[in-house]
Amino acid sequence: MADTAPPFDDVLPEALRFRSPAPLVDIGANLTHESFARDLEATLRRARAAGVETLILTGTDREHAQQAVTLARRHPGLYATAGVHPHDASQWNAELEAAMRELHRQPEVVAVGECGLDFNRNFSTPAEQQRAFEAQLALAAESGLPLFVHERDAGERLREMLHAWRDDISRAVVHCFTADRDTLYGYLDLDLHIGLTGWLCDERRGHHLRELVGAIPAERLMVETDCPYLLPRNLPAKLKGRRHEPALLPWIVREIAHWRGDTEADLARATTATARAFFGLDEPARKEGHRDG
Ligand SMILES: [Zn+2]
Repeated sequence: MADTAPPFDDVLPEALRFRSPAPLVDIGANLTHESFARDLEATLRRARAAGVETLILTGTDREHAQQAVTLARRHPGLYATAGVHPHDASQWNAELEAAMRELHRQPEVVAVGECGLDFNRNFSTPAEQQRAFEAQLALAAESGLPLFVHERDAGERLREMLHAWRDDISRAVVHCFTADRDTLYGYLDLDLHIGLTGWLCDERRGHHLRELVGAIPAERLMVETDCPYLLPRNLPAKLKGRRHEPALLPWIVREIAHWRGDTEADLARATTATARAFFGLDEPARKEGHRDG
């Protein structure tokens, strides 16, 4: 069925049917969000038509991580992360920790997270957030999986906590980086990776990133939509419903490439190579490999 369907349907207007000059990895797609429930297959088809061949589905709590794993089992090119978002840190307990440990053993799961600190909204208290993050740092050390980190207005504390664990953790990415130059340099000093979204397309709050993106070494830089959130504000056409989706990632890559002085093709190739290495996507044990009974 899927083979006979046109690659692009009428969800995206003509001007938003991008085609990346090289395959892309969207390292942060919240495809278990309810807004994708009705047209997930079509969303994946549009992503592939745009050249976004690999998607890392963000698992932000137990339920969503399990859903992400289920989707990753069903679809080639899809992988999952499993963690507890700082907003939900108040739920952390021994049972949840055991469930996370079990999820991290699944071959579809390629990172611990989304986890971290968000002192901007404090939906969970800072103390609860630090407790849950500390426990997930330990799970990343234990499993050897990389860490998928969320940080908002908590750069200093996050750096301290990561610093204490850095030698025990294989790799870590601060996803949707939006902070300032000092925070960026602090992360790079800790040998972290940086995930960039369409935040720098936002004239109200993201333009400071334009001067910063050139300071990120190519082998540290990955790209993501964080869809359905963060629809780029400078898209060349209006999108009904304003739901962001993976097929729009080439626009973000083009924008980042412009401000770095790279070509879109070079940046696409570099970020894909970085993401494949970071998440271990080419390791034989990944997905098709071992499966615990
Ligand atoms: Zn996040």
